[in-house]
Amino acid sequence: IKIKVTELPIPVAFAAAFEGEIIRRSDMHTEFSSHANPTCELVCTTPADEVEDHKITVVGQDIDAGGELALATIVKVAGEKMQADFESVIERKIHAWFNYMEGVMHTGQRNLIRIRVSNAAYEAGLRLNHFGEVLYNMIMDEFDSVVDKCEVTFYTEADKVQEILDTKAMPTYNARDDRLASLTDESVDEFYTCILCQSFAPSHCCVVTPERLGLCGAVSWLDAKATKELTPTGPCQPIKKIGCTDERTGAYTEVNKVVEQATQGAVNQVTLYSLIEDPMTSCGCFECICGVEPASNGVVVVNREYKGMTPTGMTFGELASMTGGGVQTPGFMGHGRHFIASKKFISAEGGIQRIVWMPKELKDDVADRLNKTAKELYGIDNFTDMICDETIACDTEEVLNFLTEKGHPALTMDPIM
Ligand code: SF4
Ligand code: ZN
Repeated sequence: IKIKVTELPIPVAFAAAFEGEIIRRSDMHTEFSSHANPTCELVCTTPADEVEDHKITVVGQDIDAGGELALATIVKVAGEKMQADFESVIERKIHAWFNYMEGVMHTGQRNLIRIRVSNAAYEAGLRLNHFGEVLYNMIMDEFDSVVDKCEVTFYTEADKVQEILDTKAMPTYNARDDRLASLTDESVDEFYTCILCQSFAPSHCCVVTPERLGLCGAVSWLDAKATKELTPTGPCQPIKKIGCTDERTGAYTEVNKVVEQATQGAVNQVTLYSLIEDPMTSCGCFECICGVEPASNGVVVVNREYKGMTPTGMTFGELASMTGGGVQTPGFMGHGRHFIASKKFISAEGGIQRIVWMPKELKDDVADRLNKTAKELYGIDNFTDMICDETIACDTEEVLNFLTEKGHPALTMDPIM
């Protein structure tokens, strides 16, 4: 990772080496977490006369009192060459840049984030305006080809953040998703690699297609395309869609070739649509994990926010330690939330009708889109009613009873492995 900025005006160290730093609850001074409070991160293209360059504002209390706070990070950028498609690319970098600060941990993106500030960083004098300095300096450093002016505002009052979420952030995220929804893997000539996460998972490479976004949930095909335009030699490189050897699993000689180069030979066979046969690698920042649940001949899908037990006998954390690190783990795979309702979701194994269990929050979140896909693919109405969750059962036998009662399709499908 190249960092041209030599010195940032912040009281803690700033380096890629701090990216993997974990801040435990006992070392934590302040936390911004979507579990406890509304949060969002948004980069918006703004007319130049409405952006005051290098202005950094904190609306609401700073982190002095510590504890749990809401947070909206709003970055206004202006530039003649700036395009709306570049916004989410810049937005995704917030994750890396905040993590580069010693004593700061960042996970997630969009409206689902967690930021922790350590006691040591707080005592060193770190405050929100320094987060703003990091964003300003790094954006002007890395995106100077398109950004001429940049202004950063942090909001920490829960009501205000909720209002920003409802009126600005969610509509923006939804509009981006809708634009992408009109594209299919069949309708494009190129897929893209993303190797941004190789800094901590050296053999990891996401293959990003219109119907399968990066597993962090933050890099869509449009984002990968924009990244290639912004940084031609950057983390996202095109893969010509040629050399299909198996349409069912989504196997391409060209994908294998490019992934092999991108991973310095560590991974040389990867499919786009299979959980079992050469699945994609998983780094560490996946929004969800999909794993085989043998007793019900289906899969469970668990999101990062869910802390409880799953029918696999493992928590998200336990599944993650098995799945992550940039390796292929047949039967287990990290992926983005948005992928769950995709027609390409583990389509090699029969698709979304394999999903037998999800945490309730996740199920509710994806229900509309998932039900629509199930109706289109299999003619099933209200498919999510057939999917078990922790409020119904976590024990494999009880889950099986529930699925049998509902006539869940996975029970009568071909053996998953
Ligand atoms: Fe890129 Fe994949 Fe990492 Fe997301 S998870 S930043 S798509 S490598
Ligand atoms: Zn990652």
